[in-house]
Amino acid sequence: MENYSGTKQWLEAFGLSRPLVIAGPCSAETEEQVLDIARQLKDSDVSIYRAGIWKPRTRPGGFEGVGAIGLKWLQKAKEETGLMMAVEVANANHVKLALEHDIDVLWIGARTTVNPFAVQEIADALEGTDKIVLIKNPVNPDLALWLGGVERIYNAGITKLGVVHRGFSTYEKTKYRNIPEWQIPIELHGRYPDLPIICDPSHITGRRDMIQQVSQQALDLNYDGLMIETHNNPDKAWSDAAQQVTPQVLKEILKSLVLRKKSDDTDEFNTQLNNYRLRMDEYDTKMLEALGRRMQIAEDIGALKKANNVVVLQNKRWQEVKERMMAMGTEKGLSEDFINLLFKAIHQESISHQEKIINSGNE
Ligand code: PEP
Ligand code: MN
Repeated sequence: MENYSGTKQWLEAFGLSRPLVIAGPCSAETEEQVLDIARQLKDSDVSIYRAGIWKPRTRPGGFEGVGAIGLKWLQKAKEETGLMMAVEVANANHVKLALEHDIDVLWIGARTTVNPFAVQEIADALEGTDKIVLIKNPVNPDLALWLGGVERIYNAGITKLGVVHRGFSTYEKTKYRNIPEWQIPIELHGRYPDLPIICDPSHITGRRDMIQQVSQQALDLNYDGLMIETHNNPDKAWSDAAQQVTPQVLKEILKSLVLRKKSDDTDEFNTQLNNYRLRMDEYDTKMLEALGRRMQIAEDIGALKKANNVVVLQNKRWQEVKERMMAMGTEKGLSEDFINLLFKAIHQESISHQEKIINSGNE
């Protein structure tokens, strides 16, 4: 099994003491716009300039990108500023054109990562090249699909790799445009610590006023870099206007981010940390014990319902439990999202235990 060791070398070659920053507009719009933004990002903490040339849009009729002409503008921007250039590619023809125009970094968008045919086509077109390739997470929260995309590119001989966490689509309304589901990138990072991981707070939040906060969260989780959409006139941007920031604001955001050490070797720190962890472990154990006992009661209820031929789901009771726990939990400083998630899971498990009893002896 591949562990992707060595895929970080391209990033280390930048010799940065801070996280890598990729910035630039959602879309290349005009030559002037591309050059103006690039000039403003030169001599900043930005290492790679991004711009979408082909834009995947939810509905037809929106701005679908300027197409190949934009690659010429990026070439100019590269010559003038020395910044590396990055574009999104969604098929073999995009790859061919990007290679012809000396683009340094190619990223696979969220709507493409979901499609193994498209990713394979891109992988085949990249074979034998030395490009940096970044794979955004698929729109749906599917770690295996994301990793499958990485594997296809790696199998084509591309070793300068990275993943971009841009959040996941959800039917539910949340404060995010794409909910982060941090546990997915955390699991990916746990399995493949050598694979560079970059956060895209612009597409996660969809709002420029939340970019700083999500960027800090990413750094606190040890991310290697950030991709932040940056425009010279964000409100007038032809795509994703609400989430883009000016180069000036980008600089302020980057300056405000707190970089923390990965760890600390002092005895004092480690003793205290261990103490906290022991106390936490104790609560985890207690929680599991309590849940085990709770499910035992669920089985007793199952037996009672079976004896009286009553259905498992008692909606009124469940609504009451939810409301009571929400009030109690928020008072204890727990978030509504967490309480919802926790009690959904507990309720589901409870139902399974009751069903097990009700259906026993029916086989
Ligand atoms: C983008 O980076 O502009 C883009 C289209 O992103 P995503 O694939 O994450 O939606
Ligand atoms: Mn965008």
